Amino acid sequence: MGKRTLQLDDKLYDYLLSVSLDESPLLKQLRDETDRMPEAGMQISADQGQFMALLLRLIGATRVIEIGTFTGYSALIMAQALSDNGSIVCCDTSEEWTAIARRYWEQAGVEHKIELRIGNALDTLDSLIEQGNKNVFDFAFIDADKVNMPNYYERCLDLLRNGGLMAVDNVLWGGSVIDEAKQDDDTVAIRAFNRTLKDDKRVDISLVPIGDGLTLARKR
Ligand code: CA
Repeated sequence: MGKRTLQLDDKLYDYLLSVSLDESPLLKQLRDETDRMPEAGMQISADQGQFMALLLRLIGATRVIEIGTFTGYSALIMAQALSDNGSIVCCDTSEEWTAIARRYWEQAGVEHKIELRIGNALDTLDSLIEQGNKNVFDFAFIDADKVNMPNYYERCLDLLRNGGLMAVDNVLWGGSVIDEAKQDDDTVAIRAFNRTLKDDKRVDISLVPIGDGLTLARKR
């Protein structure tokens, strides 16, 4: 006891949620709707969403960028954590998924805080950098295709201010990172990313074992 992170079985995880989760009915509705989709596994857990919203409040974030919006749960909970002059740039490739997102953002009355960019996220990030947005973002959430994780990371690091925070999702990849039999492109990319980040002197990091593993990297 005490030397390592406690393993949560279903009962203990349910307890954790019962004493800490404060999910609005609208967020719950979005989560339930997304759960019925074949890609439901791409949605962040409710406790992870609440954790990220807390991080935004802690750092007083006003400018946020998200890579991989899907049906908009994380963007919605982050938008609600921002002050009224706060904004999120959301990158995704799917009109279909983000149509669901837009519907909920409108219902929540936060659509004015969210700028959705459909297309290749690397192009969006490059154009933001070209347009003079280096060192201005407070928070970046990376949760898209895993092969591009290092590319998203480098660009988001440019976009973040000093002291800004990045959160990179799925860094434990269901445990595949330690399964040498798994040599698919995604797993290999995540392993390489994790190794590189450990020695990256530009950031302070912590790998938080929430959801599928969330690495926090604070730009020095
Ligand atoms: Ca994810």
